[in-house]
Amino acid sequence: MADMPLSRLARDFAAEISYHDWSDAPFRTDRAGHRREHDGRNASAFHLDATQTENVRINVMWVVAQVLGHHDPNLDIYRFAEACGVDTRTPSGQPRSGSITAGLRHDNIGRLGGPVLCHSCHVCDRAVQPDDQGKIRREGVARQDSSAVGWAWGPVVVHEECRTKLRTPLDHLVGNGYVSIWEKIAA
Ligand SMILES: [Zn+2]
Repeated sequence: MADMPLSRLARDFAAEISYHDWSDAPFRTDRAGHRREHDGRNASAFHLDATQTENVRINVMWVVAQVLGHHDPNLDIYRFAEACGVDTRTPSGQPRSGSITAGLRHDNIGRLGGPVLCHSCHVCDRAVQPDDQGKIRREGVARQDSSAVGWAWGPVVVHEECRTKLRTPLDHLVGNGYVSIWEKIAA
């Protein structure tokens, strides 16, 4: 994860996030690449202070980094944050503050979790909301002799209440060299 150059897509997102003037974001809708000084007499009378503006930028950076990192495990989050114009140092000036990575959701083996709204139940096709711990349930089928990560089918996301209705193409083999397995992962 360290020291990988940013992908073209990550660089382009970072350039937009860095350039965009977030200081009046709560007060007016505007185009991408908006700069407050170009608004002339239409400029909002209100604007955020420097800390508030930076908080908006960091939140936008995290939302975009979540999806980029989910699709590209090599995303260097610090490099991306810095390209977005975010200061990644700790309050005492040490490099690479842990708060930068703490803003991202990780699954139980350290990968970045997928977009929240993309989880739909394999049985009923309705959205699955994370539980109180921010986790969702995944089910699948594995060979009896392999470790839990060796999915032979799945994993698919299901509601707790739908799991008994899950049907898989390997059902006829379950109990005969295959087992049903499940896990909870960060959504
Ligand atoms: Zn369901």
